Amino acid sequence: MIAGNRSINYLRISVTDRCNFRCRYCVPASPFSVIEHKKIARYEELLKITRLACELGITKVRITGGEPFVRKGIFSFLEKLCNLDALKDVSITTNGSLLTRDKIKALIQMGIKRLNFSLDTLDPVKFASITGRDRFHRVWDSIMTAHSLGISPIKINAVALRGFNDDEIDSLAALTMEYPFHLRFIEYMPMGDSAVEKNQQILTQEIQDKIESSFGPLIPMEREYNDGPAKKFKLSNAKGVVGFITPISSHFCSECNRLRLTSRGTLRPCLLHNYEKDILISLRNGASDRELKSIIESTLTHKPLFHSLNEANAKDIPISHMTSIGG
Ligand code: SAM
Ligand code: SF4
Repeated sequence: MIAGNRSINYLRISVTDRCNFRCRYCVPASPFSVIEHKKIARYEELLKITRLACELGITKVRITGGEPFVRKGIFSFLEKLCNLDALKDVSITTNGSLLTRDKIKALIQMGIKRLNFSLDTLDPVKFASITGRDRFHRVWDSIMTAHSLGISPIKINAVALRGFNDDEIDSLAALTMEYPFHLRFIEYMPMGDSAVEKNQQILTQEIQDKIESSFGPLIPMEREYNDGPAKKFKLSNAKGVVGFITPISSHFCSECNRLRLTSRGTLRPCLLHNYEKDILISLRNGASDRELKSIIESTLTHKPLFHSLNEANAKDIPISHMTSIGG
């Protein structure tokens, strides 16, 4: 599938809007409700949409949420997904809190070799304050277990926030000296009504300068085929990679190869624009495969060339939170 001059081969599927954490940058500040069960796409519906998307050129899927592992039956869904011949790569983004050694082994057995964890701090007290849950050690243990079982690469996402983890930029980057992890600093995206202030956002240049003043130059790495949006660097003698995801300071829209499928069964051509197309309703109303494929294709005609999140009077900023769209 082509959108403009971008070849779309990556589907990001959010399997749930529910989460056992309450990360302050992710969930709404005011009380919020979750989507009713009957409005959530069933696994067989997600599988059917994915299979059709594969027939149109999708070869790579990442599962996200909400927290994917809070949804019942996720392992058997993942197994079926891994069995789709057209899919060359299935990976998951998780907060890691519900993963045990046996569960990670089960993921490896079905062919999942890559995991992204979210970890914004190495301080258990700060971890509890940002996520709303006292689970630092559980998450750290999951990361270490995944590492010991050979999951590779392990990517760790950290949202950089002034007044929260700006004093930990060095210690997070230093993880790459000891472990072959990809530590990715993400610029905070203000979405919906968040408890995090816009002025807490830290742009990549500041993080990069801080790391270089402590560790020396960040050596740029060649981009590989199918690389995500992170700009990748290595510190001298490091085992791992320092990455920067820069939706604000340098948007990567011209390279974006993604389509999103939300747990409500809507297709979104862009995380940061509100346009979405309900494919679940057509599926439930008996649309043919051809009709469903044409919904997928027509959604991509709405894939924007850029987003306006960093503009002062942005008109189309996302009204939903990351938990409901799927980060
Ligand atoms: N629950 C899983 C997790 O935390 O990894 C998967 C879903 S979460 C929405 C996916 C990613 O989005 C996480 O790495 C999280 O840090 C990131 N994220 C959430 N809200 C964000 C925001 N407002 N700005 C930047 N990144 C955000
Ligand atoms: Fe949950 Fe992930 Fe959002 Fe944190 S970032 S609230 S773990 S969905």
